[in-house]
Amino acid sequence: MSVSCHCYNCNANYPTSSFYLSSNNNDKQNLILQICKGIFEAIQNENTIAEISCSMSHRQIRNTNEVEECINEEFSQLIRNNVLRKEISSYSIFNTWRIRFKWNEFNNDSLIKNLLKISKEWYDPFTNYLQKINNQKSNKWFYEQNGENAILNNLKNLLPGFKYLVEYSWNSYHYNNYCYGDFVFASDSGIFIVVTVNARDGRRFQALKYKNKASENFEGKYVAILVATYNHDEDDSEKATLEFIDDNDEIIMQNLKGIYNNSFLQRCYNNRIETNSLQRYDNNRIETNSLQRYDNNRIGTLVREEQIEDQVAKVAVGIAAAAAVAGVGYLAYKAASNKTVRKEASELATEVIARVGFGLAYSFIKELEEEKKRERK
Ligand SMILES: [Zn+2]
Repeated sequence: MSVSCHCYNCNANYPTSSFYLSSNNNDKQNLILQICKGIFEAIQNENTIAEISCSMSHRQIRNTNEVEECINEEFSQLIRNNVLRKEISSYSIFNTWRIRFKWNEFNNDSLIKNLLKISKEWYDPFTNYLQKINNQKSNKWFYEQNGENAILNNLKNLLPGFKYLVEYSWNSYHYNNYCYGDFVFASDSGIFIVVTVNARDGRRFQALKYKNKASENFEGKYVAILVATYNHDEDDSEKATLEFIDDNDEIIMQNLKGIYNNSFLQRCYNNRIETNSLQRYDNNRIETNSLQRYDNNRIGTLVREEQIEDQVAKVAVGIAAAAAVAGVGYLAYKAASNKTVRKEASELATEVIARVGFGLAYSFIKELEEEKKRERK
């Protein structure tokens, strides 16, 4: 066991499955997550070079060829498209390699998008562990706040994809309505975010201080830590805004949001097939419907009109079920009786569409239909 190893087994004392217990992937997982971490850190510091030193403590990857093979395989798209260039050299001791990556700053967006996908795949075993912490912290918060969830809900709405609450410190003074504190949320890609609420002594200082603390507490368990501040005013929640300390953090966040929305829509789509409510979005209708019909401005009316239709209610339930998977309104959905489910589901669907945007939902579904057609041929 080595502290510097970033594999799941060295960092979480919570066994997920026998597969990962007896995994022979530890070195590979460590290598890939450390590369993602190193490149994200460089991007956050506005560099275009990352130097990563990586020890293979499980003796599963034993020579430079194997290191190179692993990188070529996992980062193939980035290397093939010339977004990422690499140099590998080895130290003669301790099974340690030094890998240097270079990229062009104009490629940051596609680099970030790809890294998020790669880290999501290799970070996966950690998500059970995060879920367990989230349950503990959420229950604790709920208990301490007597069920008053406004701040936490506001933050979750502002941070799609960051579904795990993994840490917080909170102080509130009821006599003058003043509260302040910090929250740490985590995502399926291993990207964490520290949000400092109502920073007292300089927001940048406060937020960076908490980032340092979080990076110590979660050493080996994260791929990148973003930092934002949030000003919460109980009397005027409309005014509350999330602000990033650094532009690049915001760019990483936007890319994560895009991936999250797409996988969310994918689940809606899969669920639609499972519940067999194909009629609403069936191929022919999608093709004959004009884009205007799905125009964002009309969504409100469109959804309200069609809530009456039974068929649509089924689709709405389908979407709601997917939304439930995504953690949106799960309890409301679960607790409701059948008739209520429909109503809740329709409302939820309206909210979901409002959040993701119908335009995006439409183009995504269309893309999937095209893909399916190509597969059939
Ligand atoms: Zn390890």
